[in-house]
Amino acid sequence: MPHDSQSLPAILGGSPVRPQGPPDWPPPDPAIADVLRQMLADGSWGRYHGPHLPNLIEQLSRLHGCEFAIPCCSGTAAVELALRAIPVRPGDEVVLAGYDFRGNLQDVLAVGGIPVLVDIRPDNWNLDTAALPAAIGPQTKAILVSHLHGGVVNMPAVRQIADERGIAVIEDACQMPGAWVYGRRAGTWGDLGVLSFGGSKLLSAGRGGAVLTSQPAMAQRIRLWTQRGNDTYPLSELQAAVLVPQITSLDQRNHQRAVAIDWLRPQLRNLGLTPFAVGDPDSQPGYYKLGLQYPPEAFAGLSRDRFAEAVRAEGIAIDPGFRALHRSHAASRFRVSGHLEEATRADAGILTLHHPVLLGTAEDWGEIITAIEKIGRHASALQ
Ligand SMILES: *Cc1c(COP(=O)(O)O)cnc(C)c1O
Repeated sequence: MPHDSQSLPAILGGSPVRPQGPPDWPPPDPAIADVLRQMLADGSWGRYHGPHLPNLIEQLSRLHGCEFAIPCCSGTAAVELALRAIPVRPGDEVVLAGYDFRGNLQDVLAVGGIPVLVDIRPDNWNLDTAALPAAIGPQTKAILVSHLHGGVVNMPAVRQIADERGIAVIEDACQMPGAWVYGRRAGTWGDLGVLSFGGSKLLSAGRGGAVLTSQPAMAQRIRLWTQRGNDTYPLSELQAAVLVPQITSLDQRNHQRAVAIDWLRPQLRNLGLTPFAVGDPDSQPGYYKLGLQYPPEAFAGLSRDRFAEAVRAEGIAIDPGFRALHRSHAASRFRVSGHLEEATRADAGILTLHHPVLLGTAEDWGEIITAIEKIGRHASALQ
């Protein structure tokens, strides 16, 4: 349908740029249809054991070059298992970014640990490694690092800081499975890496996750915690079966998403939105979300939330990001190291573009730009 770019924003009663809304996720995949048909025919969809989970473990270990890949029921559970593997015990401190996935802070609390929040980098709102040394004290047991919204954390620096002090590193790669971070696969810089297979994620089984490690003692602690005569944090055969074909196509899809982002970056910047810097020229991040810094002054003072609502109404999946952890939790639940100036800015100023459209066509990408231009033109009327 040809779109009249001068028309009113959809939120004010005009016609949306993309009436069909954002693309669905997960997309149709013949390889998944095949395996599901086969499981239906032979009854393996309902069994405890079969070939699919061992196959998934094999694929994940090979992709990451790690000794152990331990599937579990979610990324949040995987972070908890990683903390228990170290082990983080009651009273131990875990350093993480003040802007991070909410479940990560909650997981630290769940094992009795004390979260210590540090600030994020101004250019990509991912953990600022320069803030780490001051945050580390005698109680520090681990650093929990997430690569978020298409930015990567400087893992060589994290590794060096942790190694000099004998501290463990958990690397949360939930948002970028298969990505390249300073020359290695995301999730392999940490003593433990974490993946999510949640319904919106790049590898999707509706629910699920995995812990990656090459340290036998850590893998053994996870086994002892999860195996209680039964698997307490299970991933099923059915979930494993739909993940295997997605691992096969992961590199190719990550490449397609990166091509889309290369196209979008300069256009978004021209419109006043600043896409997250990658953080390292030799890294190839994954794009579960593309983070954008939103300056209200470039849009007639329109609030971030109202802007997101208006773009959403045009059929484009742009949303506010996470809440900063110190803004969304009682101060008694964490310690702060240094100031959290950038995390505070991120709390109010971040937008994220959701990934499914990145596997679409140049026309789909163009609609993102058209929608943002349209909202920009009507920014004053949208106040
Ligand atoms: C999604 C996500 C998780 C948790 O994964 P679930 O499978 O949804 O529990 C953890 N960390 C980050 C950075 C995530 O984006």
